[in-house]
Amino acid sequence: MKFFATEILTDFITLFYPRYCFACNHGLAKGEETVCTACMLELPRTDYHVNPENALFMRLQGRVPLQFATAFFLFRKRGKVQRLLHQLKYNNHPEIGETLGRVYGEDLRQHHFDERIDAIIPVPLHASRKRRRGYNQSMEFGKGLSQSLERPCHDDILVRITKTETQTRKTKLMRWQNVKEVFHVAKPEEVYQKNVLLVDDVITTGATIEACVNMLLTAGCRSVSIASIAYTDEGK
Ligand SMILES: [Zn+2]
Repeated sequence: MKFFATEILTDFITLFYPRYCFACNHGLAKGEETVCTACMLELPRTDYHVNPENALFMRLQGRVPLQFATAFFLFRKRGKVQRLLHQLKYNNHPEIGETLGRVYGEDLRQHHFDERIDAIIPVPLHASRKRRRGYNQSMEFGKGLSQSLERPCHDDILVRITKTETQTRKTKLMRWQNVKEVFHVAKPEEVYQKNVLLVDDVITTGATIEACVNMLLTAGCRSVSIASIAYTDEGK
């Protein structure tokens, strides 16, 4: 009865506040959330998880040692994946990240990827950007993956800090050049000897990923793997 009442309330709310698919803008049917069923089937999946030597893995190979690297979708300019990422990052829709993480996590679990990882860690956002946006889109994706894979997702282990070198007797330009963003493992004991899945929203060159993987391995992780919402070799 309680469930029935909730359902009536949901139908009532939907009547006045129709929900739309973030990928195609059509109305969502009952039971659908964030992305409609047709889009979910149509979006360009990479199937990288069943192809260990995929384009993303090959791009990072030789730069950092990885257990595996995978991405849910291929990013194409003006495509639906770009629209979804835009809504996720700039229009205050963190639920898109969580939904995609949950769906992809199911796929990964069916292929036993839960047995290959111990913890999920998102690529951290610049502190100022997180304050402005209110959330880290990679963390939202990680949360969804965490629900399906039943592995914890931590956003307080890998952090982004701004490091400033000694600046006395330097010109203004030199000072500006000496301020750089670096990654830091705040709680190395929590990842020591763990198999970590590092998650990001979209990977292009992999420079950020490379820096994060190096920090995690230096901190004592047993292995690092990569999962992103999208991969592109087109350039962002
Ligand atoms: Zn749709």
